[in-house]
Amino acid sequence: MVTLNNSDDVSRLEFAHLPTKIEPMKALQKALGGPNLFVKRDDCTGLAGGGNKTRKLEFIMAEAKEQKADAIITQGSVQSNHVRQTAAISAKLGLPCHVVVSNPIGSEDEQYLKNGNMLLNHFLGAIFHKVPHGTEVENVSRIEGELKGEGKNPYVIPLGGSNALGALGYVECAREILSQAGNMNIHFDWIVHASASGGTQAGLVAGFVENHSKPRVLGISAMMSESELSETVFELVKEICQPSNLSPDKALINVNGDFIGEGYGVSTAEGLKAIKLAARTEGIILDPVYTGKAMAGLISLIKDKEGNPIRDSDNVLFLHTGGSQGLYGYINLL
Ligand SMILES: *Cc1c(COP(=O)(O)O)cnc(C)c1O
Repeated sequence: MVTLNNSDDVSRLEFAHLPTKIEPMKALQKALGGPNLFVKRDDCTGLAGGGNKTRKLEFIMAEAKEQKADAIITQGSVQSNHVRQTAAISAKLGLPCHVVVSNPIGSEDEQYLKNGNMLLNHFLGAIFHKVPHGTEVENVSRIEGELKGEGKNPYVIPLGGSNALGALGYVECAREILSQAGNMNIHFDWIVHASASGGTQAGLVAGFVENHSKPRVLGISAMMSESELSETVFELVKEICQPSNLSPDKALINVNGDFIGEGYGVSTAEGLKAIKLAARTEGIILDPVYTGKAMAGLISLIKDKEGNPIRDSDNVLFLHTGGSQGLYGYINLL
């Protein structure tokens, strides 16, 4: 069992480029008018393009190595960034990487199916298992069984690397943010980021709880409904915190489900507008599946003051979780 108490003792491989930078977004702030905006560049964690799965994989792959795994299995959508980062570190560690891939948007578009993350996965040597959406978990089990039948010792990584072990990567990130904020002599009132399988948000929340520290974490959902994601994140936070006798309050889980649009992986008009605005003001590249929707959420909260918990005097840190590699798969869908 992984705990906050012993997270320093949990094995960890070090391949991420850390700490990632925190930069002011003065031009975007000026364009929007409102709170002080900063960005944390977790899109630059270094692993075949980087992104938020890299921090989780430092802990997960350490366990895989300890268990002497000789194959990795994971799952994701066609344009999954998690699959790309897992394929990259598997390649570096010399482990075959089986990826169970589904097409959640049911697109036949060649760019979506072959470009972007899929092109990179191909170069990274991922072994593809294309399956119908909704059958990913059973297919992961089937492949695990088949590999075991061949005398192999496969290690399964869940969707998005979002178990308590993977989330430790974001407990570490919370510590990193607090230390950087200390050096910058400011404190962040809000951390805003794209949230999907919940590990990033849960790790951040647990990390701030552990430090009795203030930043509130707001996850803009890219996949689940507000209630489903809140529940998923809360369960993970409790699991991480339980053995250290910390009892986190459900009120710490802030989720906004208003920016998913038609569904996971389907781009939205407001997401596309946010991608253009971030690019044209800050030179920062967001993506249509996660960070564009998260930025659309942040923009809308800033503009629509009513019911907005973020005040104009607040310091807001947008955690850029990566994903721009997926843009190339969306060239015809945007
Ligand atoms: C996976 C992913 C997320 C969501 O992170 P979770 O830990 O799954 O909630 C956000 N942004 C990008 C770019 C991702 O690839």
